[in-house]
Amino acid sequence: MTAGTSDIEKAAGVLRAGGLVAFPTETVYGLGANAEDSAAVTRVFRAKGRPPTHPLIVHIGGAEHLADWVEEVPATARLLAEHFWPGPLTLVLRRGRRVPLETTGGLETVAVRVPDHPVALALLSAFGGGVAAPSANRFGSVSPTTAQHVRAELGDAVDFVLDGGPCEVGVESTIVDATGDTASVLRPGGVTREDLEAVLGRRLKVHSTSRVRVPGQHPSHYAPSARVVLVEPEKVVVEAELAQELGHQVGVLLPPSFADAAVKAHAVVSVPDSMAAYARGLYGFLRELDQRGCDLIVASLPVEQGLGLAIANRLRRAAGPRPS
Ligand code: AMP
Ligand code: MG
Repeated sequence: MTAGTSDIEKAAGVLRAGGLVAFPTETVYGLGANAEDSAAVTRVFRAKGRPPTHPLIVHIGGAEHLADWVEEVPATARLLAEHFWPGPLTLVLRRGRRVPLETTGGLETVAVRVPDHPVALALLSAFGGGVAAPSANRFGSVSPTTAQHVRAELGDAVDFVLDGGPCEVGVESTIVDATGDTASVLRPGGVTREDLEAVLGRRLKVHSTSRVRVPGQHPSHYAPSARVVLVEPEKVVVEAELAQELGHQVGVLLPPSFADAAVKAHAVVSVPDSMAAYARGLYGFLRELDQRGCDLIVASLPVEQGLGLAIANRLRRAAGPRPS
């Protein structure tokens, strides 16, 4: 059930008291704390099991507040904010004084965005300040796209959960380093590279690994419990069946062009043809395959255009080497 006015008031009170509120955004659910309260922010890191050097995103209620949170707003950042906010674009800028180093993981830059979700915007308006929030999951695991995911994964570690239904976009925001004159993409996400380039009128650099520490860019992240193996689309069925024969409980993310194939595997999810629907469903599919007891997931990468770039990025991270 979607949060009502009294839930929003209660959640804002929890933030004021230094507590943690999970809230819906258009990308994924966030685990929020008062961005200016070092102790509250420290609780976010503890609840997630996230190393304190991995910065959080500061969520604000509107582009008009950006200047309050950063040292300066370069012209490119202003242009992008005006064009894409509210929306799944995060701007990395030089840290304003009111942002404690706990929030930025010790960096002199701060990541800021305006989420495009009525519940998130109502919370930000009722609270009045900035809300520092990473995704509301344990560090390294799959981001939550429903309130149920948050409750299942974080339980009592969060003081209040605002339910806003399933997230529309389904993958995290695009992070753009806008500190200098030439903006570059630190993490692909809900705003496509093509849309950014159309607004800026030039090609954008996309970092596969960043000079700035970006937790989303570590080898294994966004990962389900099952091991993820990536193969060419035309090999998904044969590899899945082979692994199943070898004794694995295989989950399959079946590419659209093979949607009619009968696959001898433990669990099969047919991937939607539209990239927007795939992005919206991706984390739910990975959670579902975990829940159905799969120990191995066979998948392929979509074409890396539009939202396909963010989906491919998350699948690669999910398939990345795990800490032993
Ligand atoms: P999460 O979505 O849980 O990974 O958390 C928020 C994301 O914001 C992190 O993954 C970081 O990549 C990103 N982020 C926050 N602050 C910065 C920053 N100053 N520079 C680069 N990335 C940042
Ligand atoms: Mg995350």
